[in-house]
Amino acid sequence: MVDQTLKTTVVDGLALAQDIRKQLAEEVGRYAAAGKRVPCLAVVLVGDDPASASYIKGKQRACSRVGMEAIERRLPASASEQDVLLVVEELNFNDAVDGILVQLPLPKGISANQIAAAIDPAKDVDALHPMTAGRLLLGTATLTACTPLGVIEILDHYEIEMQGANAVVIGRSNIVGKPVSLLLQRRDATVTMCHSKTRNLQEICQQADILVAAVGVPRLVKSDWIKPGAAVIDVGVSNIDGDLVGDVDTEGVMGIARIVTPHRRGVGPMTITMLLRNTLTAYRARTGE
Ligand code: NAP
Repeated sequence: MVDQTLKTTVVDGLALAQDIRKQLAEEVGRYAAAGKRVPCLAVVLVGDDPASASYIKGKQRACSRVGMEAIERRLPASASEQDVLLVVEELNFNDAVDGILVQLPLPKGISANQIAAAIDPAKDVDALHPMTAGRLLLGTATLTACTPLGVIEILDHYEIEMQGANAVVIGRSNIVGKPVSLLLQRRDATVTMCHSKTRNLQEICQQADILVAAVGVPRLVKSDWIKPGAAVIDVGVSNIDGDLVGDVDTEGVMGIARIVTPHRRGVGPMTITMLLRNTLTAYRARTGE
């Protein structure tokens, strides 16, 4: 039932991201002012997919805005897995590179898993290496997947109590669902992971104090799935005839949820920001700064 007295806060992920980027810029600025090398992210693009090219441009721009260096390695769509592995190896051995990101998806015939496993775990800012995933499981990770980190950052910023909360995560991908579930568990939430074979999804969601939807099914989560006062984090992005749509019926949850992330200016800006933070974390760990 809609509680008309409950005012839902729409998360301003862009403002939060900008605040964090300002802090990162100050930290990077201190290294530069001391005459030290600044953190450097290397992005690898294979092929000429315009969306991927635009994503890596955005990441490079974000780096330069906080004073970090960004370098790019481009390979043609005809590149073999071996060609990509050689580039990764070169970047692994390049002492001036702190983070390596290989833009996905890769052309057919190149295994994203093989490429991820070739990245030096110390430079694994996209957190796709099996060792990085294992460390997250063991609770010893220094680098963690960017979108899940952004989700936790939003919950912290909006003072959502995670300890003891019922958290429901819809989606179990390696890049979002699984890591965000582990991070919530580490913050002492009681986590239920749901997926395409989950029965009674609506009833499970109705128990959630924190609901994270990382599915990619437009407006899957309806207003009557939401527990009054819940924190609703909508990670999903679907393109419907050129319009971006989230997994949650955002309008419908107004007046029910305590906070909700919009599908624009919600989780998205936090993802790149956490990539920058991971690059700084990798730099510090590698240089001992
Ligand atoms: P993914 O690998 O396709 O995983 C989707 C998950 O959703 C799977 O676990 C799948 O279950 C589950 N699922 C599919 N249909 C379902 C249904 N009807 N009910 C319940 N669960 C269902 O996707 P992803 O990489 O995790 O990304 C998820 C969404 O987040 C996408 O829309 C993506 O574009 C978006 N995303 C946004 C950001 C950002 O920065 N904003 C970052 C990353 C991803 P099974 O495991 O059973 O197949």
